[in-house]
Amino acid sequence: MPTVAINPEALLRVLIIEDYEEDALLLQRHLARAGYKVDARRIETAAELKAALEEPAAWDLVIADYTLPTFGARDALKLIQKSGIDLPFIIVSGTIDEVSAVNAMRAGAHDYVLKGHLERLLPAIERELADSARRQERLRTEAELRLAQQRFSATFNQAAVGMAHTSIEGRFLLVNQRLAGMLGEPIDKLLALQLRDFLLASERELDRTIHAELISGGRSGYRVERTLIRHDGSTFPAQLTASLLKPDGHLHPTVLWVVEDISARKAAEKETTELMTRLINSERLAAAGRMANTLAHEINNPLEALTNIFYLLQTHEDLPTQSREMVEIAAREIERVGHITRSTLSFYRKLPGRTIDLRTMLEEVVQLFQSRARQHNVKINTRYADDTSSVHYDPALRQVFANLVGNALEAMEGRSGSITVRARLAGGFAAVTVSDTGHGIDQANLQSIFEPFFTTKGERGTGLGLWVTRGIVEEQGGTLRLRSCISGKRGTTIRIRLPISAPAKIIPALL
Ligand code: ADP
Ligand code: MG
Repeated sequence: MPTVAINPEALLRVLIIEDYEEDALLLQRHLARAGYKVDARRIETAAELKAALEEPAAWDLVIADYTLPTFGARDALKLIQKSGIDLPFIIVSGTIDEVSAVNAMRAGAHDYVLKGHLERLLPAIERELADSARRQERLRTEAELRLAQQRFSATFNQAAVGMAHTSIEGRFLLVNQRLAGMLGEPIDKLLALQLRDFLLASERELDRTIHAELISGGRSGYRVERTLIRHDGSTFPAQLTASLLKPDGHLHPTVLWVVEDISARKAAEKETTELMTRLINSERLAAAGRMANTLAHEINNPLEALTNIFYLLQTHEDLPTQSREMVEIAAREIERVGHITRSTLSFYRKLPGRTIDLRTMLEEVVQLFQSRARQHNVKINTRYADDTSSVHYDPALRQVFANLVGNALEAMEGRSGSITVRARLAGGFAAVTVSDTGHGIDQANLQSIFEPFFTTKGERGTGLGLWVTRGIVEEQGGTLRLRSCISGKRGTTIRIRLPISAPAKIIPALL
């Protein structure tokens, strides 16, 4: 009575270990009658089995006779097990006794059938094929699971951001390497702690409401910026992103945290804010400058009138001595006011478009001071590189050099000495240095000399020279450096670097 296979038409690739060809053919016929399309190979030695097993996934089933002259089912079983291939193995034998059969099953055979009872073979095959399919499915699932786990743990541990799973109360359940590094605490120690342990005390309660919403499912995640405290007590700004990991079956819900160190971003933000503040301040300064400029203009005219009146008064012959002295004091004070307004004016006076070459500008300034220098027995040396006539600057810089040479001269009054003015071009900049052999600047005053109205010259000084100087230099995109010595003959050196904006025009020399 033919039995119908579960899946007729299925191709059954069967390896038959059998020394009798007729028996093998009988088996094949039996399987074919049940509806299988049989692809069988009969083998009878260990070498043949080994060769057959080397073909990957070539077989669905092994049917083995129990004893062959040189090779039996037990040996075949061992070989198959050694190869690691999971193949249903059914013994079909004419002779097997109960004890041998049990032993073979213990050794891993899946079933045994006597040759006289082949009707038992088909259900055995079907059962074993189904079992094998289930086993393989399980292996595949396990392998996929392993792979997924490996992927997860690689992603989690090698992530460039800190990551952690916590209980909904915030206890660490899983922490990645990066987060442990950020917090300066080994992973195993972290597992006894809570995320809140690393939050600044004042920030711990901030997210209570939003966190409750996350846990209740009211929101899928949230993101905050908080200050975290490392194990060593230092702190860093961090962005924390929390999301709820929904429970799967019997598991408790957990929270996934992504922690990013945002120090660099914060620093950049701070820099931008500072830059903005500086811009606003310089804007304010410019506004104040314009205001001062207007005021200085307005004051200058009546001042001129007053100066003239005092001059006339001073030359008046009948003036009583006491009044004359008072008029002289008033005239000096008026002169002082005039000096202040002129300095302010020159600072903000802009003459757009007009420029003057550096060398000429320096020569003019030095020329201005020559007679005063001679009076004080001071020598002015100049060293200008040839190419300094090829660069042009805003004439406002005249004021700068005049202030520097003037200060240098004043630092040497009553002691003679020399002033050296140098100019050269290098690396895209023009460098002008003014050095003197004067009394130098006291360490205590170095902080203040660029402040407006700071002067050590009492009534004679305005304290505006260096303040104005620095303002103009910076306005021209330049920098100012000062070196000073109060002992010896070195005195003070001020170096100004100005960017060479327009390329120097080089006129080819005529040969
Ligand atoms: P003022 O010359 O009106 O006092 P400045 O702003 O030009 O104001 O300079 C401020 C102060 O810096 C001076 O009073 C002086 O003490 C000091 N100073 C500036 N240049 C020199 C210099 N070359 N040598 C010594 N001291 C200097
Ligand atoms: Mg001065």
